[in-house]
Amino acid sequence: MIVTRTIAETRAALRSLPRPLGFTPTMGALHNGHLSLVDAAKTRCASVAASLFVNPTQFGRDEDLGRYPRDEARDLQRFEGAGVDVVFAPNADEMYPEGFSTGIHVAGALTATYEGASRSSHFDGVAIIVTKLLGVVQPDVLFLGEKDAQQLAVIRRVVHDLDLTVEVASIPTVREPDGLAMSSRNAYLTAEQRAVAPDLYRALLAGRAAAGAPAATTKDVVVAATTALLMPGLPLDDAERVAALRGEAPPAAPRFDLDYLAIVDADTFRPQSTIGPRSLLIAAARLGAIRLIDNVSLSPSAYPATDATT
Ligand code: AMP
Repeated sequence: MIVTRTIAETRAALRSLPRPLGFTPTMGALHNGHLSLVDAAKTRCASVAASLFVNPTQFGRDEDLGRYPRDEARDLQRFEGAGVDVVFAPNADEMYPEGFSTGIHVAGALTATYEGASRSSHFDGVAIIVTKLLGVVQPDVLFLGEKDAQQLAVIRRVVHDLDLTVEVASIPTVREPDGLAMSSRNAYLTAEQRAVAPDLYRALLAGRAAAGAPAATTKDVVVAATTALLMPGLPLDDAERVAALRGEAPPAAPRFDLDYLAIVDADTFRPQSTIGPRSLLIAAARLGAIRLIDNVSLSPSAYPATDATT
């Protein structure tokens, strides 16, 4: 595996690789979700490139750029183990040298709502870095995760609007055995928060189950998912039962602070008033300082029954 630091080195390393070339951009702190993108690229393409870059322009001023987990040595090992051919791991000066002045703004609801509402310039940062990386790597296929569904829709929009010659392939969300979507930020959850965190996915599955009922409305789905999330009816464990019998208050389980829960069109992120094949049930919720996002498709064909972790 070749590790490159500069754009010139990257272009030189990629020139001799057999095509088609697959590409997986990441911010590192790799988990099996990232590696599933590499696996998909390995399956479809003759060569695979990846990038490792914590992109400062997609973080808001009060977000966790400085605290974002970084372990390059481990990440490179994992990429190598997964069979990546070239990893581009630049520093911020290589990507944004002095004088850098270009931006890409995807206008409208797609970037102004949900993840864009709470993080105003987030998608501008995503759009410019992915476009720039596509210019450097020039892959045939770009592999992105469905976990970040709005980001996926934004990049598809950019690729379409700018006539970029790359195919965008989306890869299903990889989950922990209890259903929690893998994320680099999960490492920051306390043990108590980690125990509650899978309830976000369970709530989305409750919404999805409601969508399967005859004549289900979007309201039925949102109510079912919200109820499941905010009133999960956690069973008491033995210690809590003893404490309750003694009249002591059981320790309060961490509670979700719901940011949004909605049914949107997977391409435009406009809210939908009826359920259709492109409907996504999306949610963001905080557990303490940690913000979790997740989504499930409401299309009966998109998620096989075996996906259900209850
Ligand atoms: P990040 O490093 O968070 O920028 O993510 C890099 C890529 O990995 C993006 O395309 C993400 O959507 C994708 N990704 C992140 N988490 C997962 C997951 N749990 N399953 C599949 N893909 C993921």
